[in-house]
Amino acid sequence: MQLSQRLSTITEPQTIKMAKLSRELKAQGINIVDLSLGEPDFKTPEHICEAAKKAIDEGYTKYPPVAGYPDLLEAICLKLKRDNNLDYAPNQIIVSTGAKQSLVNAVLCLVDPGDEVIIPTPYWVTYAAQVQMAGGIVKLVHCGIDSDFKITPEQLEASITSKTKLFMFSSPCNPTGSVYSREELAGLVEVFKRHPYIAIISDEIYEYINYAGGHESIAQFEEIRDRVVVVNGMSKGFAMTGWRLGYMAAPRELAQACDRLQAQYTSATNSIAQRAAITALVSDLGPTYKMVDAFRERKDYVIGALRKIPGVRINEPHGAFYAFPDLSSFYGKSDGETVVNNDDDMAMYLLNKGHVTTVCGSAFGNTDCVRLSFATSMTNLREAMARMAEALGKLK
Ligand code: PLP
Repeated sequence: MQLSQRLSTITEPQTIKMAKLSRELKAQGINIVDLSLGEPDFKTPEHICEAAKKAIDEGYTKYPPVAGYPDLLEAICLKLKRDNNLDYAPNQIIVSTGAKQSLVNAVLCLVDPGDEVIIPTPYWVTYAAQVQMAGGIVKLVHCGIDSDFKITPEQLEASITSKTKLFMFSSPCNPTGSVYSREELAGLVEVFKRHPYIAIISDEIYEYINYAGGHESIAQFEEIRDRVVVVNGMSKGFAMTGWRLGYMAAPRELAQACDRLQAQYTSATNSIAQRAAITALVSDLGPTYKMVDAFRERKDYVIGALRKIPGVRINEPHGAFYAFPDLSSFYGKSDGETVVNNDDDMAMYLLNKGHVTTVCGSAFGNTDCVRLSFATSMTNLREAMARMAEALGKLK
């Protein structure tokens, strides 16, 4: 059997690879603290689960409309108004199988072979895979720790060519936790105003997991709103990763195109998850904020602990649940047995010698760092930080 060319650009995500290696060591009886996971360790709140059970009892078990149930589309519009002061009509919303599908829908509907797509790094690697699937050319822009891993207006301007079709980014960002302020977004908007043919995908899946105060969306800038695609979903803010429900709010023409595309390959997402999402979106956000409080406490602990390890550089994450320490000062060093030359070696060293699972930074476009998730208990985090400090301390 000959697989398509398309597959040649698609590789197994490093996150999956590390989780697999970690499982193998655990199976050998080794105690591993796994910080590689990208999902909340909390249960989906009870009232959302109850809504799902009720949906089954009420017979919501048939195909929903491709874009989603009309009352879910209304609930999303209400949420966008309530939380983001954004006015969208239900016919501008498309509900999909996770934000991941919302993203790929938008990419496939916007990008033609040869079109350039600007992605600031560090970034969620799926963006590049999706652009490549569409035949687009990925243009990564390196954003370092000194600019809190954010793209500046100057970098954006310099990366634009006549072939640029799209800009994709996330705020809060996976893996750095960086959050763009209104002023920083305004700086980027000034550049986009000079280039009216560039569309913008704003991935806001970590919106609620924000330690900086309010969340700002680039769609709030009226001047460019007609080419912004807001992507969001239930996975992170409501601890609903397995329910697979994401959505986009987009200009009408793009929403219609995504409806057409989705109708041909997945149809609507799960009916029961859709009913549960209505309850989640219109109910009190208390359980979400409780979860965020726990993430904040863990973040403060983890960042504090990392800062105490000589040789570690770290930004302050203002959102999401990841730390992205720069460990490049250890490259070229050895514990007497293993030489750590790069981020991949570092992730393997921390796993094999420290028994802590992380993900190498190159999986996110930055070779100086590794990603740690603090979506696990304080007990695990305390153990992990002690192990990391010891393992890094042995590198001479
Ligand atoms: N966007 C970012 C930045 C993510 O980190 C993730 C999940 O890890 C997603 C989107 C996908 O979310 P979903 O579970 O809704 O597909």
